[in-house]
Amino acid sequence: MKSRLSCLVLFVSLTAFSQEMSDVEVTAHAVAGNVYFIEGRGGNIGMCVGADGVFLIDDQYAPLTDKIVAAVRSVSDEPVRFLVNTHMHPDHTGGNENFGKMGAIIFGHDNVRKQMALSNYTQEPPLVTFSEDVTFHINNETVSVFKVPDSHTNGDSYIKFEKANVVHTGDVYRTTSYPYIDTSNGGSFLGTIAALDLLIDVSDRSTKIIPGHGVVSSVGEVRAQRDMLVVIRNRVRAAVEKDMTLEDIQAAGVTAEYDERWESGRRIGSAAELLRAAYEDISR
Ligand SMILES: [Zn+2]
Repeated sequence: MKSRLSCLVLFVSLTAFSQEMSDVEVTAHAVAGNVYFIEGRGGNIGMCVGADGVFLIDDQYAPLTDKIVAAVRSVSDEPVRFLVNTHMHPDHTGGNENFGKMGAIIFGHDNVRKQMALSNYTQEPPLVTFSEDVTFHINNETVSVFKVPDSHTNGDSYIKFEKANVVHTGDVYRTTSYPYIDTSNGGSFLGTIAALDLLIDVSDRSTKIIPGHGVVSSVGEVRAQRDMLVVIRNRVRAAVEKDMTLEDIQAAGVTAEYDERWESGRRIGSAAELLRAAYEDISR
């Protein structure tokens, strides 16, 4: 009875998921030069087009693949040849199997593949993995893909389009809520500060930054988020030195002046989760 009930719950939630996906609109937006981003549901997709073929970053959820392909086709008729996963999460890797069947070769950091296996993900992992970085020379562009400090997970990469001066950050940087640090998959609060420092280092005033979730940003906006995390880090450190517990810290209004802008109101992207990750790193 119990398993029939859980099957029913699964069926109902899958039906709700399919319905939700069928309502999603997927649109391509120009960013700079031949670089675009595709907005739908889940992580922002990066795209570089040209005579060598379409290069994609992440692929949202499997039921959206047809709409994503239609959005690609609104800009280019070339085949999708390469796809890079910024990290392991299903809202960035759900379309891997579909794009793989179309002939795209999927890349990701070693830990994307490793962590997907450890977490028993049903999504298809990248076919090609790298330990530090990989460079694509396509469409008159140099595309640098490189591992960043463990931050959102332990397998995050940035992708920089050197000529167009665009960086796709995966979920290390987002504009929709506080950073979400997936500590169960090797993420780190202090690593997030280091990874944002790296993003600032590889950017200049005209760099366009495509976040994992949210809107295209400038390095100034990234710097503001990094500065906020440094303030929060210092407050959590002071609280830990006073032997405050995590619960005390979460109740102490440590993030009060930032909550209106950044609190997501749900677990992912909440102040409570951010403080938990900070506490874990700092009290270690
Ligand atoms: Zn993610």
